[in-house]
Amino acid sequence: MAVETRIIGPELIAEAVALLKQGECVAFPTETVYGLGANALDAEAVAKIFTAKGRPADNPLIVHIYSIDQIAGLIGDCHPAAKTLMERFWPGPLSLVLPKSGRVPGIVSAGLDTVAIRMPDHDLALEILRRADLPVAAPSANLSGSPSPTRAEHVWEDLKGRIPLIVDGGPTGWGVESTVLDCTCLPFRILRPGGVTVEQLRRFAEIAIDPSVFQNGVSERPRSPGMKYRHYAPRAEVVLVLGDRVPEKINQLACSPEYAGRKLGVLAVSEHLRAYPGLTVFDLGPKQEPKTAAARLYNLLRAVDQHGLDIVFVEGFTEKEIGLTLMNRLRKAAGDRVIQS
Ligand code: AMP
Ligand code: MG
Repeated sequence: MAVETRIIGPELIAEAVALLKQGECVAFPTETVYGLGANALDAEAVAKIFTAKGRPADNPLIVHIYSIDQIAGLIGDCHPAAKTLMERFWPGPLSLVLPKSGRVPGIVSAGLDTVAIRMPDHDLALEILRRADLPVAAPSANLSGSPSPTRAEHVWEDLKGRIPLIVDGGPTGWGVESTVLDCTCLPFRILRPGGVTVEQLRRFAEIAIDPSVFQNGVSERPRSPGMKYRHYAPRAEVVLVLGDRVPEKINQLACSPEYAGRKLGVLAVSEHLRAYPGLTVFDLGPKQEPKTAAARLYNLLRAVDQHGLDIVFVEGFTEKEIGLTLMNRLRKAAGDRVIQS
């Protein structure tokens, strides 16, 4: 059944707090992307998130908190190094997968015996969480499978008529989702790279990287069922191009019979904006700034669809620091369409 969706400014967050307390779901900004939150201790409220997003029931949610004191009721015993990471990186874009307590309903964790928890580094999000005084389960506030929302308008495009309220706090900072770190195995394991980098985490704990971060459809330890889904993808086909001769390769592909008659575009670094005559080109930012590219990526993928493009070629980045996060999202959006130049 369609509901009326309202967009409000930060001055009206009392309404968001009231809805959360009543067991409704509400979209709000965080420092990563917009989230769609509901009371994590109320299974019926959490079910509304899955329905609104069309999210598969076996893809677990991240629980958001405003104070480390809240985790006592949510988790069982956790490794001391996980506590160090909380103290060092919270609030921030790091979700820790920890042993779950019996208080967290099975729907939140998709039936797993673990729960992912994070403290967002965003004043408005923290204020909502503090005033609701609840742990809030919140995945990204997009339709399942489409790019995560980095602006309130993106949430509106995807979820209008499906949720009662969107809190508009302007564009999000990071523009990509949090790092998900499994702290229930040793060494701790990156399930999804995000704003907190592997290099930063390794200063405090031994960290492994799940192979699914680099390659779709493989995981040594399938702790995160959500990893198997196609993600972050626009309607247009994404083709990721790697190597040292990327503009030459993309121009060559664009002229090949395979792409004849299709509307083609490129997500290119600023240095290559003039390298693609005749193609629609979008600016990812300077080659040496993967952080800028990550912040722009989802907005540009949505723009690609608004331009009605059939195919978008994307220039690859070096896979270190935030470049690892960016390339993980590009590989997911591209599926198997990765080409070496
Ligand atoms: P989203 O909030 O839409 O960015 O998605 C949450 C991500 O966290 C998904 O990739 C989930 O698979 C992952 N996640 C959430 N809870 C767990 C958990 N208990 N174990 C492993 N991964 C999880
Ligand atoms: Mg998501």
